[in-house]
Amino acid sequence: MMGYTHALSGTAAWLAAVPLVTNEALLGSFAVSLSAEQVVAGAVVCAGAALLPDLDHHDGTIANTYGPITQVLCKVVGAISGGHRHATHSVAFAVGAGYLTDWTATHAVHVWWGILFFVVGLGLRGIGIGFQKSDNLTGLMNALLAGAIVYLMRDVDMRYVGYAVTLGCLAHVVGDCLTPRGCPVFWPVQRSVEIPLISRTNGRTERWVMAPLLTLAITILAVRSALGDEITSLLRS
Ligand SMILES: [Zn+2]
Repeated sequence: MMGYTHALSGTAAWLAAVPLVTNEALLGSFAVSLSAEQVVAGAVVCAGAALLPDLDHHDGTIANTYGPITQVLCKVVGAISGGHRHATHSVAFAVGAGYLTDWTATHAVHVWWGILFFVVGLGLRGIGIGFQKSDNLTGLMNALLAGAIVYLMRDVDMRYVGYAVTLGCLAHVVGDCLTPRGCPVFWPVQRSVEIPLISRTNGRTERWVMAPLLTLAITILAVRSALGDEITSLLRS
């Protein structure tokens, strides 16, 4: 799947999950209360995190986000994880990435800002913001935009971010499972899970069905998030 589809799926997954992660009756002490700005910040993080599993692809779009830095990182991640669509495309990776980012956001906020800068940069690259013929200019613009977004989010309490990162990674895995190659969802069990509804990357199904459906879902879920309380009180009155 293309980066923009993954980023859209991450945003939709986050907005759909907000009522769950804030539900104290369901999650008890694991539930979080989220302000409107935390919901928006979570959507940004989740969209970027939905690109993280492809860090195992040494020649993909993501590998060129920040030039040699991401190229080397992707080679290293690919070598450690067993190649493209192995360990990073699993529930175990999603949970591990969520736990690690949650820990840094809680205990080492400056490290978290570095991770946030990186994750936002991936998201911007994934949705295709940049210059078609220049990776250098695109990387520079991504870095400036990501820096500005991190600056805007510097005062937001992000101690719920593990949910957003895990959900973003899971959204990516679900998306890749819809393609013929599938993913080893239950890694280290190697068996691949696939429901091949999308036969070709950036083909008609992805461009004309998946992307519009995800955009529609995001619009509806964002309106629900923004007006949820008003709608509930209107229905009750
Ligand atoms: Zn992937």
